[in-house]
Amino acid sequence: MFEVNENYLKLPGSYLFSNIAKKVSDFTQAHPEKEIIRLGIGDVTQPLAPAIIEALHKAVDEMANADTFQGYAPDLGYEFLRNTIAQNDYKARGCEISADEIFVSDGAKSDSGNIQELFSQDAKIAVCDPVYPVYVDSNVMAGRTGTYDPKTETWSRVIYMPTTMENHFVPEFPKETPQMIYLCCPNNPTGTTLTKAQLQEWVDYANRVGAVIIYDAAYEAYISEEDVPHSIYECEGARTCAIEIKSFSKNAGFTGVRLGYTVVPKDLKSKNASLHDMWARRHGTKFNGAPYIQQRAGEAVYSQAGKAQLKEQIAYYMKNAAVIKQGLKDAGYTVFGGVNAPYIWLKTPNNMTSWEFFDDLLERANVVGTPGSGFGPSGEGYFRLTAFGTYENSLAALERIKSM
Ligand code: PLP
Repeated sequence: MFEVNENYLKLPGSYLFSNIAKKVSDFTQAHPEKEIIRLGIGDVTQPLAPAIIEALHKAVDEMANADTFQGYAPDLGYEFLRNTIAQNDYKARGCEISADEIFVSDGAKSDSGNIQELFSQDAKIAVCDPVYPVYVDSNVMAGRTGTYDPKTETWSRVIYMPTTMENHFVPEFPKETPQMIYLCCPNNPTGTTLTKAQLQEWVDYANRVGAVIIYDAAYEAYISEEDVPHSIYECEGARTCAIEIKSFSKNAGFTGVRLGYTVVPKDLKSKNASLHDMWARRHGTKFNGAPYIQQRAGEAVYSQAGKAQLKEQIAYYMKNAAVIKQGLKDAGYTVFGGVNAPYIWLKTPNNMTSWEFFDDLLERANVVGTPGSGFGPSGEGYFRLTAFGTYENSLAALERIKSM
């Protein structure tokens, strides 16, 4: 009989979103007259911007003509997109990243899940807690995380760095030295981020201990504060210690289109290997390139019209974030995030657990959010609301929460 990768069997069930769906479905069955407002979603809701739709149509038409038809895309991405990214996301910000250090992909989830393959089996990972679950789970699948303790909901070989209100959501350097450090800035779910000075300390630390920072900047487009960096390469020394992962999902609504990229600088080297060359090799072997049509759509994100339209789209979501944050504050909640990210992170009132607050909010306000404990043990006692709904629904939800 065949044997499977036992590491998969170690993964605890991912019950967060199925539990939420079940609770909401039970509630609507019991109260069909109540209208539910969903502020739990991490998906965008606004349609693709006109400049992107135009680029998509044009690329589809090119595929219909033998002279302009495109087959397999280059593994690492089309030059037109890699050059555009290098120019707009890096050169324009004074970061020294060249087009051939940019690897185009189908999104940040794949890249943030796959990047661990480049590291040794005993490499120790450090993650912020709470955080996007892909970082830990992909390392579990690779057999790097030791044993799981269901009581503490932690893995024996993972270094957890609590980011809570007590440390102002700034992780402290771990006591034990990691080889891979996952940082997500702005962070999902807390909506908080690091200033350039704080990130510089992490870059210095990583260079000092010989670790690699895997920097997920999926929410970079939502940054509004001056002292928050848009790329880790704004920090000095990041070229020798950092990989940056970006997505077109949240800045341009590509969650259903699929496009992202990862930067692996050529200076990022271990004793005997270049991570840049290894990632190129991996792409060449396991990935046949993001589709031409999507890459043309990605290029349009950086066009003058695209930039202007997307700025408006982000402003729309961030107006929701401001309404939600202010409304919660007025209602007496302790609230974080919502300034550089579309996520609002609140402390549950009256020492309720995250799930108790979920039930209370559903029952009394008919509003759905996401329990913080689903993102890691230090998320217990917190709750996430997102700004990805409509403005009208965000307002209505807050009116209901205020009158709870
Ligand atoms: N990284 C973070 C922190 C996210 O929250 C998400 C999606 O919610 C992703 C990556 C996934 O991005 P993509 O749609 O590009 O796969």
